[in-house]
Amino acid sequence: DASQPAGPSFTAPGTLTPVLTEHWGEDRSWTLEHYLSVGGYEGLARAKTMSPEELIGLVKGSNLRGRGGAGFPTGLKWSFLPPMDGAPRYLVVNADESEPGTCKDIPTILANPQALIEGIAITSRAIGGDLAFVYLRGEVTHVYRRLLAAVREAADSGLLSTGFGLDGEQPLRIVAHAGAGAYICGEETALLDSLEGRRGHPRLKPPFPAVAGLYGRPTVINNVETIASVPGILAKGADWYNAMGTERSKGHGIFSVSGHVVSPGQFEAPFGITMRQLIEFAGGIRPGHSLKFWVPGGSSTPIFTPDELDVPLDYESVAGAGSMLGTRALQVFDDTVSVVRVVARWTEFYQHESCGKCTPCREGTYWMRQIMLRLEAGKGIPGDVEKLEDIASNIAGRSFCALGDASATPVLSGIKRFRDEFEAGYTTPARELFPYRASSIL
Ligand code: NAD
Ligand code: SF4
Repeated sequence: DASQPAGPSFTAPGTLTPVLTEHWGEDRSWTLEHYLSVGGYEGLARAKTMSPEELIGLVKGSNLRGRGGAGFPTGLKWSFLPPMDGAPRYLVVNADESEPGTCKDIPTILANPQALIEGIAITSRAIGGDLAFVYLRGEVTHVYRRLLAAVREAADSGLLSTGFGLDGEQPLRIVAHAGAGAYICGEETALLDSLEGRRGHPRLKPPFPAVAGLYGRPTVINNVETIASVPGILAKGADWYNAMGTERSKGHGIFSVSGHVVSPGQFEAPFGITMRQLIEFAGGIRPGHSLKFWVPGGSSTPIFTPDELDVPLDYESVAGAGSMLGTRALQVFDDTVSVVRVVARWTEFYQHESCGKCTPCREGTYWMRQIMLRLEAGKGIPGDVEKLEDIASNIAGRSFCALGDASATPVLSGIKRFRDEFEAGYTTPARELFPYRASSIL
């Protein structure tokens, strides 16, 4: 994209690349006035000079991938929409951030909501939409209020008053919708059901939402961070974006580091940074303790040990290490933590959040929870660990949606890495092996 000025080169993983997070700490960073003062809406101005095909081509060329976890190429997803046929098509932003440990989309909406709104405007123009939805977790009322205020500010400013829809001349309407706090409603088709007013249950795919989504119409569903990354690509060019990251995982991403580090938080870095480097940015493991285990992408990804600290955090390298990169929710656990207790909490979570539609997940998570709780209490029955492996293996790959697979992952990876601790649950409560201390609250 030679027409754009060369941006700074951020090729080296190991550095931080604040783009979305650059102004988070500044006074009233969430206001339109502040966003405009730091170059906001330059991307939309450029987008209004481009055709939908050119816009999709530019985003394809940037190699931006979905930041909700799966890493599906964003421009490609947009290009799957069938040709315009005179009927509506929608953009739905998935802001139902629920993966345990994930905390990047909600902070983005709080600190920089205009980046999301500008991204919604550019994406709507690319797909010929004039109505977009943001589906947000219902519990975060303060975030919902901020989003509503930001949408109103952008609409009142006139920035969204023309340039959208099938003919490229309509105003853009953005609806902020608060869900009721079900993890399954982050699954894109369950989210659509919920948005349509029904109980959130995953739909069979295909058809993918790009073909038949909201109200049966072609729909692009993207995560908050994905959409908020689009304005930078428009303003600075695809080459600028491609200069960051690894060969196949381009650009910047927000890595959320939580747990037993000195300074937990969000660190925006090029893909390919390692956990070792991120722990250094987070001030190291808390004094007097050592790293015991960590997860790369929330509780749905396998338990890693210090041996994996140097795996580059990009989609391909993490897949090579046997995991998804997921939401980059990096949770850190030190030597005071019982793996059995952690896996028991996650298993309770999945059992509670299982929507009940399919048998392996509905029944399997129930039984895994029962066994995990008795192992945690030191009341396990010899053979329980093998039974857990059997149940988890029969959930994985046999469930209707990704939640089932996710529930099996911590159990199977926990047993693989820390079998002794699970077997100790036949005789000894986890609390005796790892005495509870306030400082080790998860
Ligand atoms: P997926 O790989 O099935 O799909 C990813 C996206 O690509 C979807 O939008 C899907 O519609 C689209 N897609 C895939 N193939 C397509 C095709 N052939 N044609 C058109 N579109 C296509 O993944 P998923 O089940 O949607 O999501 C799983 C991910 O969600 C996991 O990686 C997990 O990390 C993440 N996750 C995130 C959270 C969170 O809080 N952000 C919570 C749970 C899970
Ligand atoms: Fe529902 Fe679990 Fe089946 Fe997904 S895997 S459809 S959450 S029961």
